[in-house]
Amino acid sequence: MAFDQSITTNGPNLAGDDALRDFVGRHQRLFVLTGAGCSTDSGIPDYRDANGGWKRAQPVTYQAFMGEELTRKRYWARSLVGWRRFGYAVPNDTHHALARLEQLGKVQLLLTQNVDGLHQRAGSRQVLDMHGRLDTVRCTGCEQRSPRHALQQALLQLNPAWAKLDATNAPDGDADLEGHDFNTFAVPPCPQCGGVLKPDVVFFGENVPRDRVAEAMQALEDADAVLVVGSSLMVFSGYRFVHAAAKAGKPVAAVNLGRTRADPLLSLKVEQPCAEALAFLREASTARAEEIAQ
Ligand SMILES: [Zn+2]
Repeated sequence: MAFDQSITTNGPNLAGDDALRDFVGRHQRLFVLTGAGCSTDSGIPDYRDANGGWKRAQPVTYQAFMGEELTRKRYWARSLVGWRRFGYAVPNDTHHALARLEQLGKVQLLLTQNVDGLHQRAGSRQVLDMHGRLDTVRCTGCEQRSPRHALQQALLQLNPAWAKLDATNAPDGDADLEGHDFNTFAVPPCPQCGGVLKPDVVFFGENVPRDRVAEAMQALEDADAVLVVGSSLMVFSGYRFVHAAAKAGKPVAAVNLGRTRADPLLSLKVEQPCAEALAFLREASTARAEEIAQ
């Protein structure tokens, strides 16, 4: 293991992109962990403020979604409106920089907490969607998966009046839609078994599937350092990987505006917008790219 010698591990070390370029240059197999901060430039809002607190009402929990029909009606009504713009979001410079990092042969695994699929659309292949994908719907009865856009068509057909509504974007393809009688909103059941349809994402109050965690932990074991991009690591499902890395003596660098839950565990902390901090990866200069890839 190539342990980081030049940068102290005693707490976060505020530094610019030179330090980050050095960090990336010195490690060959990076375990990259990304969060909402990667996608804000694509117009997808973040849940949390710079102190890691909630910016808005907490998102729906698994228990409420599965337990209450009205919660599901409200969820899908908001989603019907929010999906339009979420579905059109495109990758930004941060996604492209991380795809470039993979091209340079530096990425062991890119584990993302995002559910937008934008890393894949930017060209990253070594991606594990820790919290699933919003463009897929799963039946909680028979487990059949189907594309979200097909459900969108069904929802529009059943609820033509709702199709005309517009609202402010909220995180995860949601929209701030209030003051409506959600009881009138119709949600179709699974066409196969009549079961409850759910977006194929891990809701708050729900566990990440065990095999997914195991796959990520294996990749972390095979990696020699961790790079966190755009996450406050407030959710345990992400934090545990940084904790495990620190325990194994692997250096961790983080790019995030504001505090992260793992600040005391970081070898390097870069408090810059993600795209700015990773701009060195998108530089066209082959010489510079080779220097990083060494
Ligand atoms: Zn089903």
